[in-house]
Amino acid sequence: MGTSYTWHQGSDWINPRWGIPVALLPDEILSSWLLRAALSFGCDPLVLTSSIWPKWRIWTTDLDRSMEIGRLKSLSYISGIPSQCIEASMLKKTAVLVAGKELTSNRVWPWILALGSRNRRRNGGLQYCPECLSRDLKPYFRIQWRFAWHTACVEHQVLLIDRCPTCKAPLEPSRLSVTDGTLTKCPSCKSDIRNVKGHPAILNAMLFQKQADRVVLDQKATYGSNQIESSEWFCLTRHFISLIRRASCRNTGKFTNLIDALQINTKSDLIENSGVFELLPVMDRAILVSESLKLLTAGPQLFLKNALSGSVTVQALKASRDRVPACFDKILQELPTHQRKPYTNSVLILSNKPRTKAQVMRMWAQLLRKIPKVNRNE
Ligand SMILES: [Zn+2]
Ligand SMILES: [Zn+2]
Repeated sequence: MGTSYTWHQGSDWINPRWGIPVALLPDEILSSWLLRAALSFGCDPLVLTSSIWPKWRIWTTDLDRSMEIGRLKSLSYISGIPSQCIEASMLKKTAVLVAGKELTSNRVWPWILALGSRNRRRNGGLQYCPECLSRDLKPYFRIQWRFAWHTACVEHQVLLIDRCPTCKAPLEPSRLSVTDGTLTKCPSCKSDIRNVKGHPAILNAMLFQKQADRVVLDQKATYGSNQIESSEWFCLTRHFISLIRRASCRNTGKFTNLIDALQINTKSDLIENSGVFELLPVMDRAILVSESLKLLTAGPQLFLKNALSGSVTVQALKASRDRVPACFDKILQELPTHQRKPYTNSVLILSNKPRTKAQVMRMWAQLLRKIPKVNRNE
């Protein structure tokens, strides 16, 4: 399966103001580094960050997303880590590339796990590989463990974990205090989150993950023989995930033939068909991406052939809330259009002819339904 990719190289310090300098480790995410720094100084994370940014309640936000330039410079100055290295430990650059647009701060970012945070409490948003943490001399959280398409550790071939193995609480390292001493302790039950044997990863989910990583790092992708932008590829994948989720809701539906022909498993007990993808547990996401890989691999020609033989219509493909990717335009042009009779209310059609008694009585009944009973009795 090969080794995983490197998202950033980490950095040593240059002229730090911190008494005990702390290096940024390869692929380490910002919050992990700040937490390690606080614990190595013997202070709570809140004390450390308040000393850098006195007026910023950083732990109530998703601090790994991005940072305003002035705050970034303050952190760089005091820690000795270059600004560009700190920026590389944050999510914004990858998130913008994947979304293909600038992102607002208070929304769920596409393909980035959402914390679902309320003050310092979180409902999720982070995952880890127990084998990686066990092997680390200084255990730390990686930036790729926030990517929603990551469900496995490619190196150790295990599913990532998104809950404390002992108490099942979401991972909330931001709630650790100085007495906990290490990032591998669950702040809720105080057990060591490394004490668990990882479950084997789902092969197709791992293949999808590697393909998605490649799309981000190359900043381009292919669908069939067409070269497309990274954001278009992720949009296409989201469209396929939506299609699979909709297909899993119905025993017989618009996509049955298409789904069967491409051997996609839409058993409803396996597919989580509701909820925001970026908030789903790791196993639910792993199943969805592994099934969507079959649609991606089929390419546009096979998709179109099976969609035509299954009588999939343009309207069925467009029914999702998610945008239909531009690379699907040619497919849409070939598919049949569901001809709906235009909606007309015969009663309301203006006509010079006098209405029949039945029409008048129907209109009277409609009117009565619209008038609140209390008014009718007056
Ligand atoms: Zn690992
Ligand atoms: Zn726990």
